[in-house]
Amino acid sequence: MSNKAELDRPWDDNATPTHRSRHPFHLLSAHNLAASYPRTMMLPALAALLAACSLNFAFTEPPAPTTAPPTAPPTLLTTAEATDFQATSLHAEVVSLLDRLAAAHPDRARRASMGRSFEDREIPLLILSDPPVSNAAQARELADSEGRAIVLLFGNIHAGEVDGKEALPILARELLQSNSPLLTKIVLVIAPIYNTDGNEKVGPIDVTRPGQLGPARGAGLRANAQNLDLNRDFIKLTAPETRAMVRFFNEWDPHLVADCHTTNGSRHRHIITYAGPKSPAGDAGVNAYSREVLLPWVERRYEELSNDDATWYGSFGGVFGGGSSDRSLEPNRWETFPPEARFGTTYIGLRGRQSVLVESYSYAPFKDRIFRTRDYCRALIEFAADRGPELRALALAADTRAANRDNSTIALRSTTEAQPYPITIKTFARAEGHGPETADDIRQDRVCLLMDRFAVTHQVEVPEAYAILATDAQVADALERLQLHGIRTETLTAPREVDAEIYTIDSASPASRAFQGHVLINIEATPTRKSITLPIGTRIIPTAQPLGRLAAYMLEPECEDGLTRWNFFDAFLKPGTEFPVIRILR
Ligand SMILES: [Zn+2]
Repeated sequence: MSNKAELDRPWDDNATPTHRSRHPFHLLSAHNLAASYPRTMMLPALAALLAACSLNFAFTEPPAPTTAPPTAPPTLLTTAEATDFQATSLHAEVVSLLDRLAAAHPDRARRASMGRSFEDREIPLLILSDPPVSNAAQARELADSEGRAIVLLFGNIHAGEVDGKEALPILARELLQSNSPLLTKIVLVIAPIYNTDGNEKVGPIDVTRPGQLGPARGAGLRANAQNLDLNRDFIKLTAPETRAMVRFFNEWDPHLVADCHTTNGSRHRHIITYAGPKSPAGDAGVNAYSREVLLPWVERRYEELSNDDATWYGSFGGVFGGGSSDRSLEPNRWETFPPEARFGTTYIGLRGRQSVLVESYSYAPFKDRIFRTRDYCRALIEFAADRGPELRALALAADTRAANRDNSTIALRSTTEAQPYPITIKTFARAEGHGPETADDIRQDRVCLLMDRFAVTHQVEVPEAYAILATDAQVADALERLQLHGIRTETLTAPREVDAEIYTIDSASPASRAFQGHVLINIEATPTRKSITLPIGTRIIPTAQPLGRLAAYMLEPECEDGLTRWNFFDAFLKPGTEFPVIRILR
């Protein structure tokens, strides 16, 4: 389908210098390119190369093998398996299956809940660990004592995209049935049916997911019962589902989170595409580890498990409104989506943790999508089992850097730019936009600029703290959100003289149409340095805390996806007035 707002947008970090290309063009490696060209010259040089380098292939690829379901008792089959992949599970069927898995394997599986949906359905969890744990406190104690990583895999945030909902219970069943030693090395939590309410609004697949190859008996709706896209809710936290998820993050503190989708973007021939955290506002170490260590390792392991190859999530240029002034280049640009924290993968990255977007391919058969999602998730947990102490050290280091305010700046706005090395997308000769209408059956391997790096266009120094010069009642919603996110706030018990920067609003430009129940606002503001005395009772948000970068992102008025953009400070945006959130320099 071609509605941009409905498109499952690409999420991506970027290709890695160790990324294996199957194309002869890979001889131009990232290192070679980077060494050969000053950065300012690299992009025009690459663009010229790429424009001359669209290669058609007529070879026949082996069909991607679909792993046969292991022998499982009929009671432990998913609805997809039990219907020969004609149907997907309803909420009650998922809950029942997770109950049966826990009952069949009490030595390694426990049932729990993440919370309740808007229509009051349980968001069920299955916790897998040897020895078993039942809650966050037990999980963290076991993980701390043995150096394990805690991993959350969830599915169905967009409820028409059901592959993760079927794949995750299969993966859990296989781990349990095989008595997998992986469960002695991680604490694994699966949440197969996150958007429970959307799942139950089953309609014909041509209506709920146009073009998607099954399930033939239909699937649910993308939005939750409030008609909200849960994967745009991670800053504003409007939905009870998002609040439940963020509460889970605060209680369990998973080191690795994967979010399973099904993409109906550009036509290509990769059953699985993936992305990691990539916001330049986030911790650089977290972003780099995802790009250079985690995602390449998982891709290689996925290829061994599946005899298939995965690549970075994206769409051909122009689909997401970016692209170049030279339209002829766009089919050679593989573009990611914006790095806004409304997206779960980005948000988790801003919390200093590893996150992976897993996108199966809408135009591949339902059964293949399920088992390839299973394979990719299996590769992720193998990584977590292999690198538990490393993932924990990475998280601790990110927290420490945030608490020490080691990085003195934070990016508030950015623009997409290319990685300094190309990737190869297996696609079709005539695949330029997205949707089934834009491809034919002539296979083509296309060398693309990977447009998933973000150059900072506006950044500020991270202040020592923020203070709110308004009553709690005037900013109640904003304060509530800070607390829900787990950001620590303080209240002054004595007056304090501070060196501060106070923003004066220059302009407030609302978007031309509503989005997710909001009219997003773009602010321009000018800071002025002043010495002021904060009265008793002033709310202070120190940035020297593990979520300090997230706090700054949410509170800076000019941030591309902060609380101001989402209307939390609309009462204070008249041009010429002072913004109530001030920056405490000392
Ligand atoms: Zn999706």
